[in-house]
Amino acid sequence: MKKNLLLTPGPTQIPPDICAALGRPIIHHRTPQFQQYLKDAVEGLKYVFQTKSDVLIMASSGTGGMEAAVANLLSPGDKAIVVEGGKFGERWTELCKAYGAIPVVVKVPWGKGVEPKQIKEAMAANPGVKAVLITLVETSTGVTNDVRAIADVVKNTEAVLVVDAISGLGVVDCQMDNWGVDVVVSASHKGFMCPPGLAFIAINAKAMKMAEACKSPRYYFDLRKAKKVMEKETDTPFTPAIGIVIALNESIKHIKEQGLEKVFAHFARLAKATRAAAVALGLKLYPDDSCMSNALTTICVPEGVDGNKIMKVMRDTYGISVAGGQGEELKGKVIRIAHMGCIDEYDIITGISCLEKVLKELGYKFTLGSGVAAAQSVFNS
Ligand code: PMP
Repeated sequence: MKKNLLLTPGPTQIPPDICAALGRPIIHHRTPQFQQYLKDAVEGLKYVFQTKSDVLIMASSGTGGMEAAVANLLSPGDKAIVVEGGKFGERWTELCKAYGAIPVVVKVPWGKGVEPKQIKEAMAANPGVKAVLITLVETSTGVTNDVRAIADVVKNTEAVLVVDAISGLGVVDCQMDNWGVDVVVSASHKGFMCPPGLAFIAINAKAMKMAEACKSPRYYFDLRKAKKVMEKETDTPFTPAIGIVIALNESIKHIKEQGLEKVFAHFARLAKATRAAAVALGLKLYPDDSCMSNALTTICVPEGVDGNKIMKVMRDTYGISVAGGQGEELKGKVIRIAHMGCIDEYDIITGISCLEKVLKELGYKFTLGSGVAAAQSVFNS
């Protein structure tokens, strides 16, 4: 039986004790035992979201959290600024349209981060805009946006700033309260090292007030209801994903034991080594230097080599999963190696050495071992 190392940007590698927690017999959710798990999970999430505001947990993938944000904040006809610099920014636009809100699209070339002044200009040109919807780590390109600088533009206006931090939370810094972000969305299967199945939404008082007044229809993702039952009964409106909430408690323990600063430094180091390896192999990094994410490295594949083939051979022959390119723009042209979840330096070295082997097999000319050596020298420095 082959092992399967996940170097993908979600789902990510799950540590053994979390796997063990997932194997525990199910308990009922309307019990003091589960209420304690839920309470601890919420407290732990507040630590990772760096907020004192409410954090609500829903049974869905990350997109459910994004939908909850749009359904609760934007009424039909409301305008929202959306930043499109990749596949996941485009999702905000699609969600706005689904709820009859009007997306004001700020286009950013793929591989670049949004400039705060672009947001400023869009807000000035669209008075009365209700929300600014952005992405912390644009997973399709490997860019981390400067959320702090964008928050400086949006705070002190009528609009709320909503950040899709599905990829980046617990991997790169995102200080909800200190930076002045109103809503942050995340999910269980990336930085939190759990299986997919939970979405998290942190929402401050300004945004909750907007949710109370919002006219969009909502049922499953009604944050007013979720807040109420959490406060009154330490419960969720519907059956929670019990097993994943229990596993989340273990995940948060890991993150707290390390402390956020050390966690961010760990992933930054893995990212640095991965980039050094790619460059040593003569490969180009896709995003601009200024906004390259520590959550994943997007590497351009050499001329004449199919990126999807690299990904398939690594996975099917050698049991190492990386991600390919998304959308017309990047399909077959890049591979994406994630540094999130339960991975360490030897996982990165294993991934790089496998990439080298497959590149060699596909006819790319380079010095075998040069990528691994470059990564090793980062880890030994
Ligand atoms: N936003 C970002 C930045 C993501 O990386 C992803 C998942 N790759 C999503 C949204 C969508 O999350 P999900 O697939 O869990 O719905």
